[in-house]
Formats: sequence, C-alpha cells, structure tokens
Amino acid sequence: MTTRAGGTYSGADMIVVMKAGATPEEISGVIADIERLGYRTHPIHGVEKTIVAAIGDERGKVQLQSLESAAGVEAVVPILKPFKLASRQVRPGDTIVELADGVTIGGDKLAVMAGPCSVESEDQIFAAADAVKQAGAHVLRGGAFKPRTSPYSFQGLGREGLELLARARERTGLPVITEVLDPHDVDVVAEYADVLQVGARNVQNFALLKRLGKIQRPVLLKRGMMTTLEELLMAAEYILSEGNSRVVLCERGIRTFETATRNTLDLNAVPVLKEWAHLPVIVDPSHGTGHWQYVTPMAYAAVAAGADGVMIEVHPDPAHALSDGAQSLKPARFAELMTGLRKFAEAAGRTL
Ligand code: PEP
Ligand code: MN
Repeated sequence: MTTRAGGTYSGADMIVVMKAGATPEEISGVIADIERLGYRTHPIHGVEKTIVAAIGDERGKVQLQSLESAAGVEAVVPILKPFKLASRQVRPGDTIVELADGVTIGGDKLAVMAGPCSVESEDQIFAAADAVKQAGAHVLRGGAFKPRTSPYSFQGLGREGLELLARARERTGLPVITEVLDPHDVDVVAEYADVLQVGARNVQNFALLKRLGKIQRPVLLKRGMMTTLEELLMAAEYILSEGNSRVVLCERGIRTFETATRNTLDLNAVPVLKEWAHLPVIVDPSHGTGHWQYVTPMAYAAVAAGADGVMIEVHPDPAHALSDGAQSLKPARFAELMTGLRKFAEAAGRTL
C-alpha cells in the first residue's frame, strides 16, 4: 500500500493519460504495450483526451510508470479509488447512458421510470403503461420475476410477464425495465427488456453481476439495504470490468432503526456517488419510503439533490395490487407528481 497525495492506493491500477493531440497509432501502441505487461486495458475516449485504464496486479508497475516516456503519453498516474472504472478519475465528465433508441439518462435531461411493482395481467400493465406514458414518463417499469420475502407471496408472472411488458412497449413506445433475479435468466430477460434491473437483494450476487457484464444492455443497479456506497460502486465495477459500460445506479433506501418508513431513503448517496463516480444516479422513493403519501416529496428532494432521474411505482388500482400497493401511486397522483417535478427539474438546471 503506497500513500499518495490525495489518498491511498493499493495495487498497480494506473491510468495512462494521452496527450490531447495523440494519434490513433500512438494510442494503440500504448494499449499494446500495457497489454504486453499483462494488464487489461479500458480505453476511454474523451472529447479532448484519451485515457487508458490499466487494470492488473503489481508485477508490471515499474514498467507501466516508464510508459511516461512513450510517444503521445502525457502522464501515468495511480487510480486512487478501489472502484477503478466507475471512478471520476478515469472519466471526469458525466456518463450519459443510452437506455433505448432515443432515450438516455444522465446529462441535462431527467429520466422518469414508472409502472407497477409487478406485472399482474394484460389489463393492469396496459392501464399502467398508458397512464405513465400520458403523464410523461420515459421508461415503463414492471416486475416479472419478483424477489419476495415470503415464498408464499406472488412471485411474478415470469416469462408471461415479460411478454406482456413487450406488448406494453409496442402499445406505448416506452422502453421497458424489469428485474432479473437469476444469472440463468439474463438471456431471456434481455430478449424482452430494454434495461435489466438488479434488485437490492442481489446487489452483491457476483455471479449475476459478472453475467450482466457480458451483455451489451443497460443495467440498473439498486443499492442493497445494507450496502455502503463503496460496496455499491464495487458491485458496479463487476459489470464494468466485464465490458458492459452501461450501468445506472439507484438509491432505494437502507435499513435503519426507523420504523415509520419502510426504509430510510439515503439522499446523501446522490451527491456522494456523483462526486466519486461518473455513472448516472437515480432515486426510488417508492421503496425508499414504503408509503404512497411520502413518494412525491421525496421524488422532488431527489431531483433537488442532483439525481438524474427517479423510479416510481404506479398502479391503476393500488388497493388490489399483488405487491407494494401501499407505496404505489394512482395514475392521477403520478400525473401531479410529474407536473410538480418539472419545477424542481428547472430549479436544478434540468429538463424533464
Ligand atoms: C422493485 O423494484 O420492485 C424492487 C423489488 O425493488 P428493490 O430491489 O429495491 O427492493
Ligand atoms: Mn416493488
């Protein structure tokens, strides 16, 4: 462990910063040199400069540093955070993730994902999809594989739920996000969904994360109820390091001693994650509070705190929902939330 100005660093993970005018040949030459030393390379092409992250162990460290004299190289510096590829050091600007054709998250525009906790029937998902589309949501959510505390609770419609989601997408034009619980289901879920969600209970399911790193589909990674922000970013690192760069983070509340709400929505997470990492961050005030009447104020607070979007549970008939009815908004209340959110977006320098 070597101590450097500004923090501690362990291992030999380095970034090679190329000069602003480095040629493609110089960049590929440096990449080849780094790989010859036994490192994995992750080139990041910025507007002005290219940065090449070199991820590996201690062995080639000295030679890596000597790349400072290679053609086109400006500097070789250690990566200070344990989450290498998620770190702002590797990519100083905000990453904009494309969720589907024409729908992005990050940057000036906020993204709103809304829909029922679970897909229950054609009527239910169509009614929810129509309502959230009408109110201005950008992505339709709905669980087909549900992570329920009790094995006796509704487990979701599985593949049938995926098919209904795909039909709701055809009907409304909204891209869809749904949770994947099991590494073996990644392919089937990716067949139907635009964005794959990793739930709070699976944030450290490393087999699932590695599998998701191998597909080229955006992943929404929810913070676990007992994970620190560093652990959340290390989970993101599993996906990024396997080659999938489209990761969005989600704060959805953590366990505390407080029982008035289902979870304690940790809005501190937003500015902290934005400082440490370049990935988009959204907030889920539905699971964060557990009660519909607290969802709207906390959605506004999330945007004020700098979130890139929100995820909201909306159900056409919350009283009869098969899961999470108590925290689900009726369509009319969701429409009100969207109207109010526009003002908070504007105040935060964003648009909806
Ligand atoms: C959900 O989005 O319905 C869900 C199960 O969320 P979480 O994983 O945050 O509990
Ligand atoms: Mn839910």
